[in-house]
Amino acid sequence: MPELPEVETTLRAIKSFEEKIVESISIHNPNLRWLVDKDISQKLSGKKINQIFRRAKYLIFDFDDYQLIVHLGMSGTLRIMNRKDNFFKKHDHAELIFEDNKLIYNDPRRFGSIHVTKSYKDHFLISSLGPEPLSRSFCKDYLFKKIQNSKTNIKNFIMNQKNVVGIGNIYASEILFRSSVDPRRLAQTISNSECNLITSNSKIILKEAIKVGGTTLKDFFSAEGSAGYFKIQLNVYDRENEVCVNCENLISKITQNQRASYFCNICQG
Ligand SMILES: [Zn+2]
Repeated sequence: MPELPEVETTLRAIKSFEEKIVESISIHNPNLRWLVDKDISQKLSGKKINQIFRRAKYLIFDFDDYQLIVHLGMSGTLRIMNRKDNFFKKHDHAELIFEDNKLIYNDPRRFGSIHVTKSYKDHFLISSLGPEPLSRSFCKDYLFKKIQNSKTNIKNFIMNQKNVVGIGNIYASEILFRSSVDPRRLAQTISNSECNLITSNSKIILKEAIKVGGTTLKDFFSAEGSAGYFKIQLNVYDRENEVCVNCENLISKITQNQRASYFCNICQG
């Protein structure tokens, strides 16, 4: 699944569509996680995109009177093609057509979504989301206060989009390793100084991944539109029984909340 850094990189790649006018929108297949609104082309054709930004893993295209919310789901990609290129790929669901080029949404597994709304902040997909991990709102005091009433473990807690958005399974393991926090600990036992480590390491790791994303932008946005993970150096994730980068211990793998967790029980003990 594309995580926040991949979505951020997609955003940077499509920023050039700001200030451009959508001539029309073709929906080839409306069957996504939610059925795509039939009126989408009627609502947005001839309208200018004022701005494109990201909220959690949603890409928001802002028009004067509407907003288009695009989610890439598990396997969705956006690719840019010349307008005159007249070939389709399997699983192309939608096309935003501009004067010179077009932006194509492809999604083989169909867990993504495309919605049109009057106010994205009030949209059901977005209204209950927690703060952005790279924003100042995600700070130690916020986290420390928020964990007090939690009954779950810290890994599950930071992966819950209501607490903070955009921290997926890979990054959660890496953030807790770098913070020397055992993923099995109850969130409410995390200290104020550990909250400081978790929030600052979240920012460091996500920024690192976004930076790597920037350097691989060309590949990412090739005609293939591949949505693979950026190759940041992973210290624990997917390294079961390999030697820890900080000590001689071997990395453990467990399942928490149906997801794989990786950690060093010495460094994170
Ligand atoms: Zn270790």
